[in-house]
Amino acid sequence: MSEKQSGGEQFVFQAEIQQLLDILTHSLYTHRDIFIRELISNAADALDKARFKSIKGETLADPDLDFEIRIDLDKDKRIITICDTGIGMTHDELVRNIGTIARSGTSEFLKTLGENGSDKLNLIGRFGVGFYSVFMAGEKVEIVTRPADPEAPAHRWISDGKGSYQIEPGPDDAKRGTEIRVHLREDALQFTEKFTVESAIKKYSNFVPFPIKIDGEQINKQSAIWREPKSSVTEEQYKEFFKFIANETEDPLTWMHFSADAPIQFHALLFVPKKTREIFGFGKDETGINLFVRRVMVDNHAQEVLPDYLRFVRGVLDSDDLPLNISRETLQENPYLRKISTTVVGRFLSHLQELSEKQPETFQGIWNQYGRVLKEGYMDFTHKDKLAPLFRFDSSKNSEPAQTVSLSDYVKRMRDKQEAIYYLSGATREAIEKNPTLEIFKAKDIEVLYCTDPVDEFALPGLIEFEGKSLQSVDQADLKKIESIEALEKKEEKAEEEKISEKELKNLARRIKDILGERVEDVELSQRLVDSPAVLVGTTPGMSAQMERLMHLMHEETAKPKRKMEINGKHPLIRRLLQIYQTNPKDPFLVQAAETLFDSVVLLDGFIADPHAMALRSQQLLTQSTELYLQKPGQSE
Ligand code: ADP
Repeated sequence: MSEKQSGGEQFVFQAEIQQLLDILTHSLYTHRDIFIRELISNAADALDKARFKSIKGETLADPDLDFEIRIDLDKDKRIITICDTGIGMTHDELVRNIGTIARSGTSEFLKTLGENGSDKLNLIGRFGVGFYSVFMAGEKVEIVTRPADPEAPAHRWISDGKGSYQIEPGPDDAKRGTEIRVHLREDALQFTEKFTVESAIKKYSNFVPFPIKIDGEQINKQSAIWREPKSSVTEEQYKEFFKFIANETEDPLTWMHFSADAPIQFHALLFVPKKTREIFGFGKDETGINLFVRRVMVDNHAQEVLPDYLRFVRGVLDSDDLPLNISRETLQENPYLRKISTTVVGRFLSHLQELSEKQPETFQGIWNQYGRVLKEGYMDFTHKDKLAPLFRFDSSKNSEPAQTVSLSDYVKRMRDKQEAIYYLSGATREAIEKNPTLEIFKAKDIEVLYCTDPVDEFALPGLIEFEGKSLQSVDQADLKKIESIEALEKKEEKAEEEKISEKELKNLARRIKDILGERVEDVELSQRLVDSPAVLVGTTPGMSAQMERLMHLMHEETAKPKRKMEINGKHPLIRRLLQIYQTNPKDPFLVQAAETLFDSVVLLDGFIADPHAMALRSQQLLTQSTELYLQKPGQSE
């Protein structure tokens, strides 16, 4: 990979990085000032790391140097220099971090850029390749870096961004930290103007917690706004701060700022970004909480502050009561941090609840983006009572698909004598609406929550109950209880119709069970069907049919879930089958009809057992029924 050359080594940029560099150097991008943001953000990270080391008691090279970022502008030479007194890089770190090894984000970023993606260049920092943005403005870049380790030597890295770079020993008098000299392209002269650079800093880097100086003068405010009283922070400052810490360009949907003194002292400032990052298809979003201890950043992706189901939240937690030299492992077990976390989560969920009452539209926006993730919280028993009221579902009372119905809306609308909250899962709203098990609920005007997210299958039973009402899947409902709920408009019972004896229908059911054999647990008369002739229902207590389906999909080795077939004694098809049965219980047409009926309910249930046999049976049935049709008086000539 490297070649020694006159005291230096020549390296070739990894192919994907070269591809990225080609795009960066050739794009006509209007916001080239983001390279300043990226370099400053790297400098701030490096300073955080150095300060953390020093607080832990390690000796740094040049211990008297202040932690700061200096920018020097040289109009004559067309150079902007960005210099920090941070952790620096060793030779190997230079190779690893810049140029030789593609970082995992490189290809993702290239994909995001796509063909005409120069408007997305702005997102570069999110993908861990922000450094390369320097080539949007620079034709040659020199890095001189000296690690904080007092023993380690300095190195110089030089490249024109065209295929290769060189690393050579750095000057002996180089101080701790990293200096990046950008030789500007002819068309990027504005970056030697103080005004331009200052505007970029104010726009993107105002909250960097270290002084940023241009030619000696401090530019940024550098205030830890989360430590200030709420009343002294303006809405604009919150938004600006959010964009800074979350690397976002749009305003947050909401934020919560709160401080506690006793029993544990801490400050928390949390934001909800406008859009989820999980739809990018890059897997789970990384947690976005910056953990500070006494103003010192100890972790910029702290896992221990918020649970996984709040991974979309961005923000800061700062406490004076946590030990500074704490390792990640001990952080997890730290009882103070656990207490803080419980309090912060509770407060944040209450904030969302309040939002749902006072600004329902904003809340709905949050739910639409993050509802699926929030529902993963059903396992958090500590906060269940605050989470459940936030959940929203589609429902049979909605006229079009939208997750807008809360469990309390549902409970308020429950029918007289209705005891449980009912839900039904399926892949889509359409599939759910066609499910025959819903029919009795429609007839009785009982609301049913429509669950189209796979997580619902676990989240709803996981809640166990809400406001004293149990949660039940429609296909698990106690039909006797449903029976006692009055139908809205009683359908005219055709009382005069010949009384069909239940006994006879039960005999028919038994005969159908004989025909279907082991394929069904049983065949019974249905209490739940109104318009459909038959349906399959699950037989495992406490587990909905959809849940069984999911379990089977996840663990294919498990037996296919057992099903019971229910037939609707009032349906004309079943009545005709009964007639056939009464004439000849062994009629081969009855066998064929029962088989085909079973095929159709299997399809509705979501399992396709044997498509060939199914197709064949329905064709045979068609052959017979067309023959019958032709025999009808007046049909055939
Ligand atoms: P990111 O900062 O998101 O990791 P970059 O491409 O901006 O991605 O930087 C790559 C890596 O190079 C950083 O993670 C860091 O290890 C190293 N690096 C960049 N700038 C500096 C600096 N000023 N001081 C020390 N290390 C740096």
